[in-house]
Amino acid sequence: MNHAPRVGRVRAEMERRGIDVLLLSVGPDLPYLTGYEAMPLERLTMLVLPARGDARLVVPQLEAPRVDRGEDLFEVVPWAETDDPVDRVVGLLGGGSANPVVAIGDHTWARFVLALQAELPHAQWRRAHEVTSPVRVVKDADEIAALQAAASAVDAVAAEMRERPFAGRREIDVHRELVDRMLEHGHQRANFAIVAAAANAASPHHEPGERVIAQGDVVLCDFGGTMDGYCSDITRMFHVGPPPAEVRDAYELLEAAQEAGVRAATIGAPCSAVDAAARDVIGAGGHGEHFVHRTGHGIGTEAHEDPYMVAGNEDAIVAGHAFSVEPGIYLTGRFGMRLEDIVVATTAGPRRLNAAPRDLAVVG
Ligand code: ZN
Ligand code: ZN
Ligand code: ZN
Repeated sequence: MNHAPRVGRVRAEMERRGIDVLLLSVGPDLPYLTGYEAMPLERLTMLVLPARGDARLVVPQLEAPRVDRGEDLFEVVPWAETDDPVDRVVGLLGGGSANPVVAIGDHTWARFVLALQAELPHAQWRRAHEVTSPVRVVKDADEIAALQAAASAVDAVAAEMRERPFAGRREIDVHRELVDRMLEHGHQRANFAIVAAAANAASPHHEPGERVIAQGDVVLCDFGGTMDGYCSDITRMFHVGPPPAEVRDAYELLEAAQEAGVRAATIGAPCSAVDAAARDVIGAGGHGEHFVHRTGHGIGTEAHEDPYMVAGNEDAIVAGHAFSVEPGIYLTGRFGMRLEDIVVATTAGPRRLNAAPRDLAVVG
């Protein structure tokens, strides 16, 4: 990835919004913009990126050797163990406006935010999200290729699971298998692997545990990870033995809702339309009150990022938006189900990145 154009686009957003300087520490914005990821430690790493002028990366001296200077995006300012890194950052802001408008990364630790605010009492503080999200939300061809590769890897895992036995194994055993298979298929990291059987599947973010999967259980598998910097996220449903009519009917409704959500993801439509399309189908089928979450979230270098497919988000879908469409039906104390694909908005219409079979897989 070539990072300089990203920095240029963020600087244009800063100019447009009257932001003088951007401060980025831990979290996804810094690696997105520069390729360097701050260690999530007590020692401060902070990129100081003015709207105009040279950028500098304030970094603990012992981590300076990890910094790749290849792209020449910033000057490295190492600080020694007895220096005050907040003073170093404040020193780099000197010479500008007495009351600068400062945007700071959403994930920056409160202890550093509070220290900076104490040293810059006249600054106006804004979220970095204002200037990084509009850039990050539109994926270029390389990013879509990376998302596609990650999606294809979890598709392969989902397809393999259709041939695997579920009955007699604990949720946690299937969880570990999903993690192992994601790594085997090229992911560097598994971010989550929800395995929820029967009534546990009615809790959308169930933590897989000791429950032994049995004949007659629905099993929800929602898993994803990171591959070459970009995330995957897929949900597929399994049933141990033939499903009863009630489960089959609910699943048919769920598939129709997911299809409607995907079809609604056309350029120019508001993000809320994707949510409404899926929710209308589930509501018409009598399960409206059992669909208890938004329909989708954006995905990129973070597993959840803009744009969110939720009522109230009237932002228009543009080409290059990448997001999940994942309606669910949850019957407390009984069973639950969700179906999830990653979709990219294109000028030719919505394109699913996931291609694993979407039917309710009958397993042993
Ligand atoms: Zn998911
Ligand atoms: Zn998701
Ligand atoms: Zn219902």
